[in-house]
Amino acid sequence: MAKQEQNVFQEIVSHCKKLGFVYQSSEIYGGLSAVYDYGPYGVLLKNNIKQYWWKSMVQMHENIVGIDAAIFMEPTVWKASGHVDAFNDPLVDNKDSKKRYRADHLIEEYIESKIQKKIDKDVAKAAKRFGDSFNKEEYLATDKRTLDRQAKIDAILSRMNNSLNTGDLKDIDALIAELEIACSVSGTKNWTEVRQFNLMFSTQGGGATSDDVLYLRPETAQGIFVNFLNVLNTSRQKIPFGIAQIGKAFRNEIVARQFIFRMREFEQMEMQFFVRPGEQKQFYEQWKEARMKWHLALGTPADKLRYHDHEALAHYADMALDIEFEYPFGFRELEGVHSRTDFDLSSHEEHSGKKLQYFDPELKESYTPYVVETSVGCDRMFLSVLSQAYQIDEAPDSKGKMQQRVVLRLHPAIAPIKCAVLPLVKKDEALTNKAREIFNKIKYSFECQYDEKDSVGKRYRRQDELGTPYCITIDDQTLEDNTVTLRERDSMEQERVAVEAVERIVQQKVDMRVLLQQL
Ligand code: ATP
Repeated sequence: MAKQEQNVFQEIVSHCKKLGFVYQSSEIYGGLSAVYDYGPYGVLLKNNIKQYWWKSMVQMHENIVGIDAAIFMEPTVWKASGHVDAFNDPLVDNKDSKKRYRADHLIEEYIESKIQKKIDKDVAKAAKRFGDSFNKEEYLATDKRTLDRQAKIDAILSRMNNSLNTGDLKDIDALIAELEIACSVSGTKNWTEVRQFNLMFSTQGGGATSDDVLYLRPETAQGIFVNFLNVLNTSRQKIPFGIAQIGKAFRNEIVARQFIFRMREFEQMEMQFFVRPGEQKQFYEQWKEARMKWHLALGTPADKLRYHDHEALAHYADMALDIEFEYPFGFRELEGVHSRTDFDLSSHEEHSGKKLQYFDPELKESYTPYVVETSVGCDRMFLSVLSQAYQIDEAPDSKGKMQQRVVLRLHPAIAPIKCAVLPLVKKDEALTNKAREIFNKIKYSFECQYDEKDSVGKRYRRQDELGTPYCITIDDQTLEDNTVTLRERDSMEQERVAVEAVERIVQQKVDMRVLLQQL
């Protein structure tokens, strides 16, 4: 990560802690690596993100229903899903620094820093040289040096994916040696052999014998597959239909250094869409578009989001892509859209002995449905939303002098607090009473905050830092004509509005329908 990007990322992390969005888990004991707690504003923002997802999936689709499955499942589930045998990451240690890495990440970082960066630099230079007439696609497709570099990237990735898929870890050792990859901490190339590491956490059931191993689910999807028949028999759904779920998942990630981007305990928002075999491509394309639209509706600029097709497919997939977001540390996976074939239902049918098929009344035949999945991490979504919203601009202080201000330009529909109610001064009881009266009236409609501490300028700054879209200020004029000042976060514009109208005005702007109607 470049120094400037690192600084922005560090600022966002500090902001989260300072304002009460995210804390390190068990901090008073020194913390627990890659586990985080959400504070008072974090939980509100996270709940709003979940609500936006849930409403867009379940409330807005007649043919999608929700469930909430348990975290613990009968252990054969994880045998059938392939997680016991194949949910591994390749790990490697540097013998000098004792630092542990994911071997595939080491190789990908090498590509990024040693080859891709050079391509990007040449593109930037050419763009400067040719000005408006520069055509990036044409340059990438014709420049000899760039083509050679791209071919090198493709060759490395294809060899790595092939070796990982066939379990040839010796070749991954060889690739790391050939590329002369060194540890960023010790600077040496003194590596252990690459070995596979299963990411599932296990614990013991009530019987506490060694056969009683229980896993903490590494994805929520399997809770949906094992309930396929239950839902089918109780919900009157016909194929195509979907089952949605939001819930915790657990992975013993080897390296977890990027705040809430890669956690050991995290939350997923997953939807499995069951379709006729052969129709998966059509629904895969449909969900790919729909999910991008969902992200864009929040106001994220289109150039911050992109699709990334998977070169190496997981054992269950026939098509797969990631929706990537440009975090301060670069483009990374935010959501996965996977065409999972009939792998999961067929495998559960085989392991459970229960028929998991669907009788199609139109075709008059039974089949195992195919599945298109959309899976987005709630925490990664939280981080993308915050990274996008965190901005620094200028605002006048009490003497009219411009000062830097930190502002979270969150979409009003997901902002943790929708509206702050502020008496101009704390000492004037008539003002604080009136402010309380207004607060107690509007608190039924949306999340509000009453605040009377510090100067009103400081309180505005604090609400800007929390991403509160509106502030209502109560002053002497309020007592005379029953109007208040309504201040908007982004423009900082203030207008005088009647007390009776303020709740309706704010409600219109912060209503989640504004978001959903764009989908
Ligand atoms: P990665 O390649 O980054 O490890 P993945 O491809 O294993 O991710 P999936 O199994 O497709 O991820 O999981 C679906 C979604 O769950 C991801 O797109 C991501 O948003 C989220 N997710 C996965 N692992 C984590 C994690 N360790 N911490 C936070 N979110 C995660």
